[in-house]
Amino acid sequence: MGNPTGFLHVKRALPEDRNPSDRLIDWQEVHEHMDTADIEKQASRCMDCGVPFCQSAKSEYAPAVAGCPVNNVIPEWNDLIYKGRWKEAIKLLHKTNNFPEFTGRVCPAPCEGACVLGINADPVTIKLHEVEIIDRAFKEGWVVAIPPTKRTGKTVAVIGSGPSGLAAAAQLNKAGHLVTVYERADRIGGLLMYGIPNMKLQKEIVQRRVDILAEEGIVFVTNTEIGKDISAEKIEQDFDAVVLCVGATVPRDLPTEGRELNGIHFAMEFLKANTKSLLDSKHEDGQFINAKGKNVVVIGGGDTGTDCVGTSLRHQCDSVTQLEIMPQPPESRQANNPWPQWPKRLLVDYGQQESIAIQGDDPRQYLVMTKKIESDGNGNVKAVHTVEVEWERTPEGQMIPKEVAGSETVHPADIVLLAMGFMGPEGGLVDQFGLEKDPRSNIKADYDKFATSKPGIFAAGDGRRGQSLIVWAIDEGRRAAREVDTYLMGKSYLP
Ligand SMILES: Cc1cc2nc3c(=O)[nH]c(=O)nc-3n(C[C@H](O)[C@H](O)[C@H](O)COP(=O)(O)OP(=O)(O)OC[C@H]3O[C@@H](n4cnc5c(N)ncnc54)[C@H](O)[C@@H]3O)c2cc1C
Ligand code: SF4
Repeated sequence: MGNPTGFLHVKRALPEDRNPSDRLIDWQEVHEHMDTADIEKQASRCMDCGVPFCQSAKSEYAPAVAGCPVNNVIPEWNDLIYKGRWKEAIKLLHKTNNFPEFTGRVCPAPCEGACVLGINADPVTIKLHEVEIIDRAFKEGWVVAIPPTKRTGKTVAVIGSGPSGLAAAAQLNKAGHLVTVYERADRIGGLLMYGIPNMKLQKEIVQRRVDILAEEGIVFVTNTEIGKDISAEKIEQDFDAVVLCVGATVPRDLPTEGRELNGIHFAMEFLKANTKSLLDSKHEDGQFINAKGKNVVVIGGGDTGTDCVGTSLRHQCDSVTQLEIMPQPPESRQANNPWPQWPKRLLVDYGQQESIAIQGDDPRQYLVMTKKIESDGNGNVKAVHTVEVEWERTPEGQMIPKEVAGSETVHPADIVLLAMGFMGPEGGLVDQFGLEKDPRSNIKADYDKFATSKPGIFAAGDGRRGQSLIVWAIDEGRRAAREVDTYLMGKSYLP
């Protein structure tokens, strides 16, 4: 630790985000960088505490207990940053995280929730340091393809190219296996490419990493759906092992009157088409759901809903409202949510900041339940009818929403976006492989083993654990790779 008293006299600081009025007219990233001298100062706030909770998340306690799921050795690279030893910092960071340029941009940073300094002060800006290390490394040309020196002759198919599939492929390739990644979309990256919008994670950053992985020898096959274009049986015949990294892609629906009307879409239909059209033609092809001049109602107050808000505002919608059935989180950590748990508190994310700048208010309305969706008489959506709710505990201990009499509200709507989470992987492929599912319809495989009910077939990421985070997907991909390597070779030197 370079500066033992840094935390006493340096205040937490982050770079300013781009001004909403600038960032709303393009699709470029919202976040700015910080000057080197200032980052080095921020790094000096790390106390190198005896037990660095920031780097030690445990899957069995997630998301209640925070900490970094990939176990990034945070105090060590904070120290290297403080001393200006950036090249060593990236070496260390890459040992635990294959893709710090993704997590450094879009991870919600559970590490910071568990930072010891956070007990009575503002936590260290860990996520900022991660992205600054990797962005500098790319700029300096320190990140280059390192193909394996020896091949084992074993072949592995990875189905799905999201962060879990990419991490599994990267590790298995490092171990010398010949890896083929199959992806049904036309671009590699899963939700890194077609879920998270460009203003949170620019797609050239995803493609840059995919290109390095390809140079290292991983074969990427796009526009190919396993279970349809190639059967599960053929994959099993052709490869020595298979890793299913198919994500949790079944969206939660809203069974309500008027659900069949035109203008109601799942969030992912909206977000995917938007990014594809942006990348294909800068929106010239018109192949997206355009919110320009429309009243948009987003049902779901989470991050996916926020991405719909930010996207609608960039289309220049007339208005956007975000409805959430749960109560508004508190402004700060509550006594029943102590450190080092993930702090449940109200965050004003980029989409809400932009809404405040454009519409004058936060688009979120809490404790609101949809009653029905009204038609314009021609089969199109016209309005969303809602009612306020209070949450009550039943004698059996179950929390249920109770309607507040007289609180009915009508929200004008031309587009309704359903962003209420995901229900697990699509069943067809899992059935075709003949695999067991868990009670939540995820692929059944234990964390740390990742072996499904069929030998040689492994599962990792959201398709195994349910909808989660990029950092957990990377963690699962890495750990699954070690298990696959052990299955193929009898032992593994992968971390
Ligand atoms: C809109 C949105 C925003 C998000 N924002 C964040 C964020 O800011 N930060 C964060 O940490 N997390 C975020 N998440 C969650 C995060 O993206 C996921 O947890 C993560 O991507 C899961 O990774 P994965 O590899 O398991 O699956 P995915 O990324 O879902 O990838 C699965 C891939 O498998 C492919 N596939 C499925 N079936 C087949 C098949 N049969 N054949 C071939 N290919 C197939 C799919 O096309 C897809 O590309 C967000 C999620 C959404 C939906
Ligand atoms: S990956 Fe996420 S949890 Fe881990 S150090 Fe980076 S921001 Fe923190």
